[in-house]
Amino acid sequence: MPANLIDGKEYATRLRVGIAKEVERLKKLHDLKPGLAVLLVGNDPASEIYVRNKGIHTKEAGMESLEFRLPAETPEKELLAKIDDLNKDPNVNGILVQLPIPSHMSQQRVIETILPEKDVDGLHPINVGYLVSGLDGFVPCTPKGATMLIKNSIKDLTGKNAVIIGRSNLVGKPMAQLLLKEHCTVTICHSRTDNLQKVCLSADILVAAVGRPEMVKADWIKPGSVVIDVGVNRIPAPEKGEGKNKLVGDVEFEKAREIADAITPVPGGVGPMTIACLLLNTLHAFCVQNGFEKPDIRV
Ligand code: NAP
Repeated sequence: MPANLIDGKEYATRLRVGIAKEVERLKKLHDLKPGLAVLLVGNDPASEIYVRNKGIHTKEAGMESLEFRLPAETPEKELLAKIDDLNKDPNVNGILVQLPIPSHMSQQRVIETILPEKDVDGLHPINVGYLVSGLDGFVPCTPKGATMLIKNSIKDLTGKNAVIIGRSNLVGKPMAQLLLKEHCTVTICHSRTDNLQKVCLSADILVAAVGRPEMVKADWIKPGSVVIDVGVNRIPAPEKGEGKNKLVGDVEFEKAREIADAITPVPGGVGPMTIACLLLNTLHAFCVQNGFEKPDIRV
């Protein structure tokens, strides 16, 4: 029997509706609304699409969306000065610099210039430290969203074997921390892992965050497991017409679906959760900065 499809699009829509209701309620009470500033340096086509979508959803949630587009050759100190201005602006509650940034800039310096309390991407070392220490801080949006989807599929994660393929700061490492917090036994794999197939076969929860199209084969998947495919890969799709492309994940989806108990599709799985969690982080930042209670939005 094919696996249950984990519908990230539907879940994310419900989450965004819950956030919008809370924004509306706070606006009526305090005459204030959350503000999210997104900075894009250069004109990477994929980043342009992400930034545009973030803007659309931010406004739809009733928040203030500020977009700053800087040319690729912008000196680093100009970007840092812009972040500094936004740090001081009381109408800006969250700041996100769309990654990657041009190679003449230090990504780490840029991240560390954002005030930790406005770092809604959860990449500042202070927020990373909070997460590792099991304390409350901002958590990167993609693993946060992926964890919500897992918890929606498995009521109690205690003692489950979770295998994560990928150890990036953006996805793999925070994902591991979040699953550890849920009392999973966590294994992190990467490009030097020996016998990846064998490790994956032990996974009750398998998270693929690699960026290699359909690398995870069906015979790597433990029957009855939950598979979360974070990968987004654009590949040629001649069946759609000459020169056409399509998006696929890191997992061989159709065959894996026959083995797993539940699986996220690409697109429509983890991706939509990323933006919804960015809005949730921005709402939380707004509440903390204004001394309002953090809402507990459940969907
Ligand atoms: P990344 O920084 O490139 O990290 C990729 C990880 O995969 C690295 O840890 C790398 O290992 C590991 N890896 C590469 N080849 C491998 C192999 N053959 N076997 C095992 N591990 C291997 O990428 P990322 O930022 O984490 O993103 C991963 C994927 O998720 C990408 O497709 C990205 O587009 C997607 N993504 C999606 C969203 C979303 O919203 N849906 C958000 C973020 C990212 P080493 O560390 O040893 O090099």
